[in-house]
Amino acid sequence: MNDKQQHLQTQRLDATAMTVVSSLLQSLLIGLFAWTGTTSWSVAFAFFVLSAGTTSLFFLAVHRGWNLRFRDRWLLWGQLICNYVIQLVFIVAAPTLWMIFLASSLVSFNYAMLGFAPRQFRWTWLGFGATTALALWAGRARFGYPALTDLNIVLMWLFFFLAVRRLALIGTQFSTLRSELSQRNRQLTLSLARIQELASHDDLTGTFNRRHFMELLHDERERSHRTQQPYSVALFDLDHFKTINDRFGHAAGDAVLRDFCTLVQAHMRVTDRFARWGGEEFVLLMPVTTPVESASLAVERIRSAVAAHDWSSTSALPADARVTVSAGVATCVPGESAETLVARADVALYQAKDAGRNCFVMAP
Ligand code: GH3
Ligand code: MG
Ligand code: MG
Repeated sequence: MNDKQQHLQTQRLDATAMTVVSSLLQSLLIGLFAWTGTTSWSVAFAFFVLSAGTTSLFFLAVHRGWNLRFRDRWLLWGQLICNYVIQLVFIVAAPTLWMIFLASSLVSFNYAMLGFAPRQFRWTWLGFGATTALALWAGRARFGYPALTDLNIVLMWLFFFLAVRRLALIGTQFSTLRSELSQRNRQLTLSLARIQELASHDDLTGTFNRRHFMELLHDERERSHRTQQPYSVALFDLDHFKTINDRFGHAAGDAVLRDFCTLVQAHMRVTDRFARWGGEEFVLLMPVTTPVESASLAVERIRSAVAAHDWSSTSALPADARVTVSAGVATCVPGESAETLVARADVALYQAKDAGRNCFVMAP
């Protein structure tokens, strides 16, 4: 049995122990009614044996773990049906206390509602109506009332006082269920947000990943098709990055990748979308690049910021260490696919590398 099951079993044991206590209290009350002469001792004794006997049996079953072979609702149903049938029998068997037992059957019916679906509820309600009607009909000729002595009034008050406590316990269980449910909902929402984050973001840099970038790019293509506003894509590749890793270590290389992203995000427009394309390559989507030179201006701003950045302050590189980036930029032509646009930017990136790095080339 794991921890959660153990916890549930302890809860069940507590709940069944409570039913034993409440059956003992009810037996005591019926005993007091027998003492005042309202009902006979044999009725009080029979009630005690049946009520305390069945609840103790259920307690024993949970204590021994026999209930684990069945679903939870069988335990609940078993307890309820036993309790309910006993109350019904005593509506007929103790005709002076019929009101008390009728009210008690109401409490167990109320308890049953915890486990019901709306459809089941309707049938159980009709069953409740039919069986109580039957019991009332069977006992109708003999029904009487407790003599209205002070003591009997106190006993009746005590009965209702305890019944309200049982009803309140049901309410408490309802609100525990509800708060457990809303807590589980909150956890689910958090997990979902985490899954969405993992599915669309790069682990190392926290920027969008390539898959999500392509979705954004396709959306932008649709939007641009509708609005007739051109958009551009820039592919960035850090220059001689292998050397940075080799000289300063892989961890420093990782730090440079992260700082590079921070730097780009500080210099791009808020409407631009930036993602890790793979390794030390990144991609920038620039919507609405009119006038035509706005894309090259944006990329040049990023390139010069990277070249001028002091990497010793953020990535723990030596003060003289320089990091530069090359880029290839392509502006969409009408009807072109997103993939073709990126491929053109890639060709331009190769040309920038050939041209000596630390520069960008606009695709024709
Ligand atoms: P070039 O200027 O031609 O782009 O030279 P380069 O050294 O940058 O290019 P190359 O493709 O030879 O090497 C890329 C390097 O980037 C090699 C690889 O180990 C490194 N790299 C890729 N991903 C990561 C990463 O997540 N962290 C670190 N630290 N390095 C990475
Ligand atoms: Mg590369
Ligand atoms: Mg490189």
